[in-house]
Amino acid sequence: MSTLITNIGELVTNDPEADDLLGIVEQGALVVDGATVAWVGPAADAPAADQQLDAGGRAVLPGFVDSHSHLVFAGDRAAEFAARMAGQPYAAGGIRTTVAATRQATDEQLTAHVARLVQEMRRQGTTTVEIKSGYGLTVKDEARSLAVARQFTEETTYLGAHVVPDGDPDEYVALVTGPMLEAAAPHARWVDAFCETGAFDVDQARTVLTAGAAAGLRPRLHANQLGPGPGVGLAAELGLSAVDHCTYLTDDDVHALRDSGTIATLLPGVEFSTRQPYPDARALLDAGVAVALASDCNPGSSFTSSMPLCIALAVREMGMTPAEAVHAATATGAAALDRDDVGVLLPGKQADLVVLDAPTHVHLAYRPGVPLVAETWVVGRPLRAP
Ligand SMILES: [Zn+2]
Repeated sequence: MSTLITNIGELVTNDPEADDLLGIVEQGALVVDGATVAWVGPAADAPAADQQLDAGGRAVLPGFVDSHSHLVFAGDRAAEFAARMAGQPYAAGGIRTTVAATRQATDEQLTAHVARLVQEMRRQGTTTVEIKSGYGLTVKDEARSLAVARQFTEETTYLGAHVVPDGDPDEYVALVTGPMLEAAAPHARWVDAFCETGAFDVDQARTVLTAGAAAGLRPRLHANQLGPGPGVGLAAELGLSAVDHCTYLTDDDVHALRDSGTIATLLPGVEFSTRQPYPDARALLDAGVAVALASDCNPGSSFTSSMPLCIALAVREMGMTPAEAVHAATATGAAALDRDDVGVLLPGKQADLVVLDAPTHVHLAYRPGVPLVAETWVVGRPLRAP
């Protein structure tokens, strides 16, 4: 069954061959055939299809690719958030509160919770989501967290190195790179570590990523969130696809990212929710570093699942243009996951798209907080908001 979506006021394709960043087709149309995009172009040239939908002049974009989330957890930390807003500083140790609740939850409870959050994301236009473990921190709880995440996405990330739960840090790293890795690897595509004061130092992070890579996982890294440090340099040295947070960077870090081609994934929901300074996206882009945006949806530092919010924050607070922010939330998010089948709307690519209740992508930043996502299509099928 093929579907022609026509009368699209603005079709964002992210065609890398186009003259403009977003590869915009004005008065466009698109044909979905099964799971893939079969044709894009001006509506006047559109081929026939089995059925036809009229977009009514609205904008159509690639679905958002949220390359960084922590959805497998139980409980919430609303009280901690309120305390922080009352003046207490954010520190990495709050993760332990969620770890205790997650270990107590059943598989069914964790699965239901992830399902609810993924549905929340879909309603806001996210079509690809990466989901990390990291609130189990035992062999059994990390493996089952990843097994739960795998029910919702192929982009699962083993984050046993989220925080040292208790005891000796070196013994814990030996567990993370030994029996825990062995149990987690069958359910994971990626391995990650939280390289930060209060979590793992750069040598421990290197050990975790190297062991993960040896087990067949692709490394990525949390770095330079709470202060300057060697994590971003490590990511560039290892040639990672992406390094996430990048809030505190030196000129050397920026040059290293540019030279390695490592994507800086910025997570402005974190700075919003912790009242920290935002990363300097403008400086990164001007230096030639590729920038992705992701939600970092997690119960401690950024409990938002909204990519439209991240786009609005990136434009208002981080110096990005609306076009740069949309590209960062779609095509570059896909690249941060080593994917080229999503984040673009071109023939042969996966038919993951968003219909906005707005004439252009600019409205995502121009109308912050407004639910503009009218429809989300995942793998060729529309999921209408309930
Ligand atoms: Zn994170």
